[in-house]
Amino acid sequence: MAERIDGAVLAGEVLEEVKAAADRLKDQKGVQTGLAVVIVGEDPASQAYVRSKGLRANECGFKSVTHKLAEDTSEADLLGLIDDLNADDTIHGILVQLPLPGHIDEGKVIQAIDPDKDVDGFSFINVGKLGTGQVGDAFVPCTPAGSMLMIERVLGKDLSGKNAVVVGRSNIVGKPMFNLLLAANATVTVAHSRTADLPALCRTADILVAAVGRPLMIKGDWVKPGAVVIDVGINRVPAPEKGEGKTRLVGDVDYEEAEKVASAITPVPGGVGKMTIAMLMANAVTSAYRSAGEEPPRF
Ligand code: NAP
Repeated sequence: MAERIDGAVLAGEVLEEVKAAADRLKDQKGVQTGLAVVIVGEDPASQAYVRSKGLRANECGFKSVTHKLAEDTSEADLLGLIDDLNADDTIHGILVQLPLPGHIDEGKVIQAIDPDKDVDGFSFINVGKLGTGQVGDAFVPCTPAGSMLMIERVLGKDLSGKNAVVVGRSNIVGKPMFNLLLAANATVTVAHSRTADLPALCRTADILVAAVGRPLMIKGDWVKPGAVVIDVGINRVPAPEKGEGKTRLVGDVDYEEAEKVASAITPVPGGVGKMTIAMLMANAVTSAYRSAGEEPPRF
């Protein structure tokens, strides 16, 4: 049976390190890490994410600011707020919760964030740094950064000689995951909906990362014996066994089948999802260290 890579435990360790680093910076330099989260509209899932980001930031000892804007906020007003936050020396990280309402150009808003405060890692500057191998200088998107930390815990930092397959090519997960694995010397293939014979390709992977959004798509016989499997997918499916109308969360990987073949695997829930907010806090404290001219801690 595969080792279960526990996201809650690992995220807890990262958050403790973040808090200790934030406390040190405050004590030694008088700088309190500041994180601003901006949300537009009332989407309940987004509201819940923003609430937990605020809670974690408070637990880390940050100055935590949440800007809740009405659904009909204009793009110009949102860009004005971003300008103000860019200019605010007490704010080191700015995150705009996505998706934004349809009348706002998401790309324009993301690129308006000062790359030095872009703790989501979505600005062209940070994407470019990651793409050119300057991983230490970039803000890396939080979900792939957390996934990478999970891989490192099992296999170490140098993945020389390992074949990795990333299923999914999104800008927020698949592509940054590719760059992180490549920077760690893995030989990486990125698969997507047009890939031929995906099961056979997956079977070549010593490290298999699933970021697709299709419940239980990756079966046990797609997994190479001994592989490390990272399941980024979060899918809500009906769970009639829990009662009428009930649902449960599952990943992109069929965990019950895959755990019999893999050497290590992340569960859903309780896996990668737990890491995302922890890595956001890590990026925020990193930003505060950089702005104070101090060497940031390595997570
Ligand atoms: P996305 O933007 O929808 O991208 C999905 C990718 O999967 C695309 O590249 C798509 O290929 C590929 N794909 C779709 N069907 C496929 C198939 N049958 N075979 C092979 N590839 C296929 O999704 P995302 O934002 O990257 O998210 C992926 C999953 O991760 C979702 O379940 C999401 O909820 C979850 N997620 C979790 C976290 C977390 O905190 N744990 C964070 C972000 C996302 P094409 O490019 O060809 O369309």
